[in-house]
Amino acid sequence: MSNAYTILLVEDDRSIVNFIRAALTNAGYRVLVARSGGEAGLMITSYRPDLILLDLGLPDMDGLDIIRQIRQKSQTPVIVVSARSREQEKVEALDLGADDYVTKPFGTEELLARVRTAIRHVVSRTTELEVARDGRFTTGALTVDFRKRRVYVEGEDAGLTKNEYNLVALLARYAGRVLTYDYLLKCIWGDESRGNNQILRVNMANIRRKIEKDPADPVYIFTEIGVGYRMADGTGDVPEKSAGISG
Ligand code: CA
Repeated sequence: MSNAYTILLVEDDRSIVNFIRAALTNAGYRVLVARSGGEAGLMITSYRPDLILLDLGLPDMDGLDIIRQIRQKSQTPVIVVSARSREQEKVEALDLGADDYVTKPFGTEELLARVRTAIRHVVSRTTELEVARDGRFTTGALTVDFRKRRVYVEGEDAGLTKNEYNLVALLARYAGRVLTYDYLLKCIWGDESRGNNQILRVNMANIRRKIEKDPADPVYIFTEIGVGYRMADGTGDVPEKSAGISG
């Protein structure tokens, strides 16, 4: 597989750099490394990477400030690499426009899966394209029909309420990505609902009862504890770099 995607790794911890660089290089990606926020800024401008893996704990700059800076000038996907103890920071990172996060420690497979998903979303917008083309999103036996505003499991209408449908449809549009509690609340129930996670939990419990075989062990919508929810990725392969990508 010849992925010529360039990934900028912004990380000051040498052992993590070595681990991530080896995993990505073996998978065929071109890897650049910046060890500080300042260096990252220069490299983003010079090399225009396809994806940025960003450690939030850098020596010279707050990682969240780096995300702000990146988002001022580009939509390059950013995956935050963060320690488990910094849950609130992950939420802020996602709300500032980071695409995803991985929590240390993580394995090679998890990292590569997140990288593929992030690149796929920006490069080909597979989900949005599929949705635009057939008005549907499918993962496993679950189908969201955006025209009929219905969700089907194994061909059967799941019987979701309007808000339940809206929640599932929103997660499906961004399948594979974590949407934060506040973002979901704001989109479905409006600004005044921010912080009211209870309404979200109740709706999600009802949704899971209707769409999951085992609501306690969901396969379609995953909980990212303390952060938000993520819809399972739809099917489809990562396109090659040559498939017509523009910066
Ligand atoms: Ca660090």
